[in-house]
Amino acid sequence: MSKIYINPGHGGTDSGAVGIGGRQEKADNLRYASAVAEKLRAAGHDVKLERDSDVLINVKDIAERANAWGADYFIAFHRNSGGGTGAECLIVSSASAKSREMAQAIQNALAAVGFKNRGVKVQDKNTYVLSHTTMPATTIECGFIDNAGDNALFDSKQGEIVQGITDAVLSIAGGAEQSPATPPAQPACTKKPFTLDHVVKKGSKEAVVGSIQNNLLAMGYDLGSTGIDNNFGTKTDAAVRDVQKNGGVTVDGQVGKNTAPLLGGTWAEKSAPAASIPTLTRNLKLTSPMMRGDDVRQAQERLEKHLAQPGRIDGVFGNSTKEAVIRFQQARKNEGRDIGEVDGVIGPKTWKILWE
Ligand SMILES: [Zn+2]
Repeated sequence: MSKIYINPGHGGTDSGAVGIGGRQEKADNLRYASAVAEKLRAAGHDVKLERDSDVLINVKDIAERANAWGADYFIAFHRNSGGGTGAECLIVSSASAKSREMAQAIQNALAAVGFKNRGVKVQDKNTYVLSHTTMPATTIECGFIDNAGDNALFDSKQGEIVQGITDAVLSIAGGAEQSPATPPAQPACTKKPFTLDHVVKKGSKEAVVGSIQNNLLAMGYDLGSTGIDNNFGTKTDAAVRDVQKNGGVTVDGQVGKNTAPLLGGTWAEKSAPAASIPTLTRNLKLTSPMMRGDDVRQAQERLEKHLAQPGRIDGVFGNSTKEAVIRFQQARKNEGRDIGEVDGVIGPKTWKILWE
C-alpha cells in the first residue's frame, strides 16, 4: 500500500480564489480533498490529509512535511479562477513520468464527469509544492470558482468527481476500494453546502441539523425512518462519529470547526477586523516611470492569493500587474461586485476587495 499525501489548497486567512456569491476556494478544496482522502483510506492506503479544518499551512511546510513523511504520491486540490472554464491538472517541467501519468489519469476522470478538458499543463509558476516535493505530484484545478457552470458541475457531480479522482489515483497507486457489506442505499438527495457558526451535537434541534442530516443521507448513511427531522438524535450522532473517525478528527459527535467541512459545510469565520487592511495612500496603476513600493508589492501578493497571476512579485507596477488587476476586477464584476471600472487601476474599491 502507498503513502498518499493529500493537500487541500489554501485555508485560514488565505481563502484562495473567491467566486460567485463570495464562494471561497479553500472550503471547496477541503470538501473534495477530504472525501477523496476518505476513499483512498478505505482502499487501504496510508493517507495523510494535510488539513481537516480551516487553517493555513505554509507551502514550504507542506513540501517539507510530505518529503519528511516519505509520501509516495502528492496531490494538491484546488479550484481555478480568472474567467475561464474547465478542469486541468498541473505538473512542473521537472516532473517525473509517474507524475504525468497520475495527472493524466485524474484529468481524464474530470473530463469524463463533464468538465471542459483543459488538459495536463506544465507550469513552473505558482507551483512551489510541486517543484519542492520529491515524489510524483500533481495539482488538480477542479473547474473555475468564478464560473457558474463549473460550480454547478462541482456541486451536482461531487460524488462522481470524488469517485473519478479516487479511481484514477488507485489506477496508479494500486489497491481497490473494499465494497461495503451492504451497499449504501441510493442517496435520495445530494449534498448541499451549509454554514455553521456554533457547535451542534446530540440534542440540538434546529434547521442546520436538517442540513447536516441531508448531507449524511447523501453520503449514504442510514438515519432511520425519521430521516431529516432537524433533530440531532442517536442515529445522526452515530453517523457523525463515523464521519469523524474516517476524517481523522476527534470523535466526539460534535459538529464544529473540524467536522463541518467533512459534512460539506463551512465553519463561519469571524471576518478579519478592518484595521488589518493597510491604508491605500495612492491609486496604484501603470505609469511611466513605473510605480514602485511596498503597496505595489502588497497588491501583487494579494493578486497572487486570488490567483490573478500577477507574475513576478517585485513591488514594481508593470504590465503583468495591470493585466492581473484587470483579471481580478473582471472576475469580481462577473460576480456582481461593485468594483468600479475594470481599468487595471487599484483604487479604494479594488484595494478593499483584494484584502478579502
Ligand atoms: Zn488554489
